[in-house]
Amino acid sequence: MTRPEGECVFCRIAQGELGSDRVMEDDEVVAFRDLNPQAPTHVLVIPKRHIASLDVADEGDSDLLGRLLLAAKRVAAQEGLSDSGYRVVVNHGADGGQTVYHLHVHVLGGRGLTWPPG
Ligand code: AMP
Ligand code: ZN
Repeated sequence: MTRPEGECVFCRIAQGELGSDRVMEDDEVVAFRDLNPQAPTHVLVIPKRHIASLDVADEGDSDLLGRLLLAAKRVAAQEGLSDSGYRVVVNHGADGGQTVYHLHVHVLGGRGLTWPPG
């Protein structure tokens, strides 16, 4: 499922080759609105560096994984969700519903989200 980075849609977004509605960026992370939002706020937070999935991340990625979660928190605050609440999701593989094989953290909010997920 790992694809060459040149063909990876999220690498292209991170590099600015493909348009996106960016809401946040730092030296290691980019956040942009999901094209097919599942909630009033639906933002994806990605590492600029290509990591195909959480499942292939390792100890060397610990700092970056932490930065992704902190970036998700920052995005939620920016979107005004800190008080009402939000959900942070990482899908892996077929059963997890992963469709894009560049690690991404979904930040969802702006409505009550049901549990368990479908
Ligand atoms: P997942 O199913 O967890 O792999 O999530 C992939 C997400 O990426 C889906 O919610 C898609 O709607 C979203 N998506 C795919 N292509 C783009 C794009 N070019 N810009 C923004 N979001 C995208
Ligand atoms: Zn990529």
